[in-house]
Amino acid sequence: MAKQYETVIGLEVHIELATKTKIFCGCSTEFGGAPNTHTCPVCTGMPGSLPVLNKQVVEYAMAIGLATNCKITQVCKFDRKNYFYPDNPQNYQISQLYLPIARDGYVEIESGSGKKKVRIHEMHMEEDAGKLVHDAGGTLCDYNRCGVPLIEIVSEPDMRSADEVIAYLERLRLLVQYLGASDCKLQEGSMRADVNLSVREAGSTTFGTRTEMKNLNSFKAIARAIENEKNRQIDLIEAGEKVIQETRRWDDTKEYSYAMRSKED
Ligand code: ADP
Ligand code: MG
Ligand code: ZN
Repeated sequence: MAKQYETVIGLEVHIELATKTKIFCGCSTEFGGAPNTHTCPVCTGMPGSLPVLNKQVVEYAMAIGLATNCKITQVCKFDRKNYFYPDNPQNYQISQLYLPIARDGYVEIESGSGKKKVRIHEMHMEEDAGKLVHDAGGTLCDYNRCGVPLIEIVSEPDMRSADEVIAYLERLRLLVQYLGASDCKLQEGSMRADVNLSVREAGSTTFGTRTEMKNLNSFKAIARAIENEKNRQIDLIEAGEKVIQETRRWDDTKEYSYAMRSKED
């Protein structure tokens, strides 16, 4: 008899906040300016420059935390996450590792399988990276997006299907848009979801090894990527092989994912 499998999914959702200026400097966050025109010594990581926190970012992050039933951290701080990649000239991202602005919340969703709560592990404020444009002459860097404020919302692995994932994302989007904190457009990247997925035999009480999938630009792409990754993992297990914990990039036109080199390596 064929084995039954359950899919386990947790999301990391990045949302660009609708502030006029960046998180640590006065540069404009407006989308689509000529490359490197919305930049200054702070958001291009020049020696001696110092960040000054944008109050509106904290207010939006707290509002989203309250709307998702989180506890707001009374004393929180930022941390530097080292990473060396040309899309961030500082060589570190300012984020919140130890004392995130909000934690321990939930949102209620309704899908084909009924009502349920998806728990939120934590929510932190951080800065976006720049954009790399690869063309025949090499790689070009546009730092206009460097320092655009983001919140990252990390869920617990509480979702069991693409339907539940989409219900969760729609619920978050509705709350955030209502608060005026972001326009949450997946196509334009102001809302981005990384899907962490594992499978396990039905009835098992421990989780399987998960992969993380990136580059999901629409709800349809998310649904296709979940179906594909679930089947890929089941095939591996059925063949007696192991799922490798890694980050994979989804190619929606070819409808497959491939392992990505980590920026943190
Ligand atoms: P990391 O620190 O490596 O990013 P986390 O523990 O913060 O890892 O988890 C990141 C995301 O992965 C969370 O959304 C969490 O719910 C999800 N996750 C963790 N373990 C699993 C698993 N076994 N299967 C599916 N999702 C998982
Ligand atoms: Mg993470
Ligand atoms: Zn700047």
